[in-house]
Amino acid sequence: MKTIFIHKKHILIILILIILIVIALLIQSGKDVVEVFQNNYNSLDLMNKISSKENSEEKIAYLTFDDGPTTIATPTVLDILKEENVKASFFVIGKNVDKNPQIVKRAYEEGHYIANHGYDHNNSTLYKSNESFKDELEKTDQAIGNAIGINNYNSHIFRFPNGFMAPANKKRKEEVLEVLREMNYKYIDWNCLNNDSMKKYSKSELLNNLKKTSQNKNKLVILMHDTKDVSDSSSALKESIEYLKAEGYNFKNFYDL
Ligand SMILES: [Zn+2]
Repeated sequence: MKTIFIHKKHILIILILIILIVIALLIQSGKDVVEVFQNNYNSLDLMNKISSKENSEEKIAYLTFDDGPTTIATPTVLDILKEENVKASFFVIGKNVDKNPQIVKRAYEEGHYIANHGYDHNNSTLYKSNESFKDELEKTDQAIGNAIGINNYNSHIFRFPNGFMAPANKKRKEEVLEVLREMNYKYIDWNCLNNDSMKKYSKSELLNNLKKTSQNKNKLVILMHDTKDVSDSSSALKESIEYLKAEGYNFKNFYDL
């Protein structure tokens, strides 16, 4: 009787050990799945590519303008960029491109990168379904293509309205990354800004905001808006560029990526 009892105990211990091993293996494989998932989707974030060069000495500034084109701000921005010999990137809204195709054509012909910011800048349409997300991007590429005279234009770079990092619609944003991958797209937020969409700032306040958020960074992806909706970034653009040049930054746009 005693031997049988010991055997039962042993069997129980062995069973518990097996269960523990199986649980550990499951957790490990789950981790692997998460890591593979994260690695896959991290590669869609262009900021990772830029940050990976962060330790290199070269100081690079990528100027980006969102929400245009507008007749009220974009031509002024383009004039200043031309004077300063700086190439920038524009995250255009499709419906604004349809309204002002000639401005996009000018920006493109002057060497700026034309990237995609969705057709309507309306989150309820954008995230309604994966199909509507895809449709927003395709309609915008179509509008850009019409404006610059290129069939089947694909800008390959998307910026989420309010940024991927913003907490709103987080789950949907993660889900549509698969759509971006299928469309051969990457996305990018920013790591420097003058807060021109936060409130009405004066020219010197805009410049100060930029100085503050650019501190100690070798690589800058700078968010501005060519809209004048809240603050007028174009009023501080010349001084902002001159400041960054004096700080040793070279300007590039996303063609360089
Ligand atoms: Zn925007």
